Amino acid sequence: MNMKIPRHPTLIRRSLLARQKQLQAKSPVLAASLVTIRRACGNPNCRCARGQKHLGHYLTWKVKAKTHTAYVPVDLLPQVKLWTQEHRRLKQLVQQISQLSLALIQTHVTAKRRKSGRS
Ligand SMILES: [Zn+2]
Repeated sequence: MNMKIPRHPTLIRRSLLARQKQLQAKSPVLAASLVTIRRACGNPNCRCARGQKHLGHYLTWKVKAKTHTAYVPVDLLPQVKLWTQEHRRLKQLVQQISQLSLALIQTHVTAKRRKSGRS
C-alpha cells in the first residue's frame, strides 16, 4: 500500500493521470466484507444438529460504528466477491490519488523556486 511519491511535479502529474484513468468502476462496487458463517438451521433431525453445520455467506459493513449484515445467496457469491474486490481497488486508487494531489501542492513552492533559478 505504501507508494513512492515522485519529487518532481511533472512526474507527480504523470503518476496522477495514470491513476485517474484507472478510476472507473468495472463492475458494481460493494463497500462491505464477505464472511462465511457456520450455523445450525434449528431442525433437530438435520445433519447440522450433529455438528455438520451449514455454511452461510454474509456481507458485513459498518454504518456509524454499527455493524450490518446481509445474506448472500450462494449463486451470487462469485459476483459479490468481485464487487467487494472492486471496492478495495478503487479505495486504494483514491488514497493514492489523494496522496499525489497533496504532493503536488507540497512541491509547488520548491518547483517554483527551482524554475526561478536559484540553484
Ligand atoms: Zn441444518
